[in-house]
Amino acid sequence: MSMAMCGPSYSLAHDRINPKSQGVIPPAGATHPGGDDGYYEGDMKWPRARPALAPQQESKIMNPSRMNVESFNLDHRSVAAPYVRIADRKELPLGDVITKYDVRFTQPNVAHLEMKAIHSLEHLFAECSRNHSQQVIDFSPMGCQTGYYLILQGEPNVPAVLDLIEATLTDVLQATEVPAANEIQCGWGENHSLSAAQDAARAFLAKRAEWEQVSA
Ligand SMILES: [Zn+2]
Repeated sequence: MSMAMCGPSYSLAHDRINPKSQGVIPPAGATHPGGDDGYYEGDMKWPRARPALAPQQESKIMNPSRMNVESFNLDHRSVAAPYVRIADRKELPLGDVITKYDVRFTQPNVAHLEMKAIHSLEHLFAECSRNHSQQVIDFSPMGCQTGYYLILQGEPNVPAVLDLIEATLTDVLQATEVPAANEIQCGWGENHSLSAAQDAARAFLAKRAEWEQVSA
């Protein structure tokens, strides 16, 4: 798989990495075998020892087949929906952490949520979840329509996140309308179905005991 589809493989904010280089990236700490004058690679000169990068960047340059997006490195044939798993964690420059959860409703490449269901459930969850948590940053559908990404402030553990999801979906079942389902508050105000969203929520809740089991 080529990494060129999204630009250079080594598009890191690090001026000593040459994105045009086709050579082997020296391991962190490596020095030039021929002397102490630095480490040459193509037209790029490393300092005496290549500095270690952040773990994620280090992993990327040492494993160039790894893709930028965490879920693109997930074998979707190996999972057993429904499930909830931590997909990513990011530490921000000032030390705050945000965590991204993969909330998978249907089995990848086997089933998906219909457009109105996934859209209305997005509205309902986005609105209702904030009644239960101040940590909700985003809840967005996956383009494949098999689930959502839930992004939370901090690093809530999975059981706490499952409780939040359960409480929110229980609210969804009680809802009498889809919030903001109109052309003023939504980009496709006609594309909604409360009953379809509730069916999806009900089916997901029925498998509550299986949410923590990610793999088949
Ligand atoms: Zn909308």
